[in-house]
Amino acid sequence: MHEMSICDGILKSAVEAAQAEGATRINRVEVTFGELTQIVADALEFAFEVLRKDTIAEEATLGITILEGRSRCLDCSVEFRHDRYEVRCPECGSYLCSLVQGRELRIDSIDVD
Ligand SMILES: [Zn+2]
Repeated sequence: MHEMSICDGILKSAVEAAQAEGATRINRVEVTFGELTQIVADALEFAFEVLRKDTIAEEATLGITILEGRSRCLDCSVEFRHDRYEVRCPECGSYLCSLVQGRELRIDSIDVD
């Protein structure tokens, strides 16, 4: 379950950022990830609940935004949704595509006291 190590990284970054601002408590952490990262939202939430214990984020909630996988065709410029198994233009059938979104993983905001 790679969500544990991913969540560990998210929490460490959030705690570090909060403490740098002099915060003593994290109320909420908002993250965004792309569906091509293979992260499972439920597993990420579970990892967050386990890992937040004994940190200043102990009572924090986790907000998750998921971005679908999208690419743009380099031959006909159509933008389309796809999974991680096949990236092929639905319009012209080209495999020459450039990823628009779907592999990101970032913290959007941290709400602290
Ligand atoms: Zn195309």
